[in-house]
Amino acid sequence: MNVELIAYSSPMPYQCGTACYFNTVYNPMHIIEQAASVCYDSEPDFVKFKIAKGCAKTGHLSVYEHAYFTFHVKGISRACLAQLTRHRHFSFSVRSQRYCNERCSEPVFPASTDEDQDGIIADAYDYAWDAYDRLIENGVAKEDARMVLPNGAPTELYISANARALIEASHLRLCSRAQQEIRNMFDLMKKEIAPLSPEIAGMMVPQCEANPKYQFCTEGESCGRHPRLQDVLATATLKQLEEADEK
Ligand SMILES: Cc1cc2nc3c(=O)[nH]c(=O)nc-3n(C[C@H](O)[C@H](O)[C@H](O)COP(=O)(O)OP(=O)(O)OC[C@H]3O[C@@H](n4cnc5c(N)ncnc54)[C@H](O)[C@@H]3O)c2cc1C
Repeated sequence: MNVELIAYSSPMPYQCGTACYFNTVYNPMHIIEQAASVCYDSEPDFVKFKIAKGCAKTGHLSVYEHAYFTFHVKGISRACLAQLTRHRHFSFSVRSQRYCNERCSEPVFPASTDEDQDGIIADAYDYAWDAYDRLIENGVAKEDARMVLPNGAPTELYISANARALIEASHLRLCSRAQQEIRNMFDLMKKEIAPLSPEIAGMMVPQCEANPKYQFCTEGESCGRHPRLQDVLATATLKQLEEADEK
């Protein structure tokens, strides 16, 4: 899998006065800070991004929709693509199995399997690609021949998303309940953003860490990273009862 950040929002040179040069790398928080400052009739803080960070703390995340990122992604499976496209605020351009020949494409192996299982998967892939090749040779249209390709067929795509969509999708896809492949992909997107904006990358965390002060799991079963919300609440109630008893 390969994930490359190829573009992101940065301010127009005239927005930054004389100290702004075309080759300056801007933190996209700059734009979020500028947009958010209008809400409070305040001066933007382009060093500490105080207003933008305050908005994140209070859940006023719409200001994070002003910063956009575009990624080029190669070598994820069509299974991963199906999960990715459920995020309705992402924009996609995907290699077409109707127009492109998939004969020589390298299938994706699940991240969690060992050598023994990989042998079984490789056999199934060989069989599927052989069927695909024969259908193409027999003159079947690519859009129909693709029906025999598995979920592990690879794909290539471009994704654009604003910071809010990325942060909120990360809450779901960086959770240990999400499949390893899509977790790896979100990890790589986060790593691409981190050098430009440690603030935005820092918000790309699993749901249980979305609020750094109150960390709890909202899933039915916790992976152990943080306690479940109901367990936290149950403990809190018990503590309150104990405190009340003592009074
Ligand atoms: C671990 C895991 C397992 C999953 N298993 C399944 C499964 O078995 N079957 C299955 O079908 N899906 C499954 N999904 C996909 C899941 O149901 C969501 O479709 C996916 O995670 C996208 O999330 P979303 O709909 O919250 O957000 P997005 O589409 O990313 O949208 C972000 C937010 O925008 C708002 N929003 C977007 N569109 C609307 C709308 N039309 N109306 C109102 N509000 C809207 C919501 O607040 C939403 O949370 C799974 C996801 C995960 C992470």
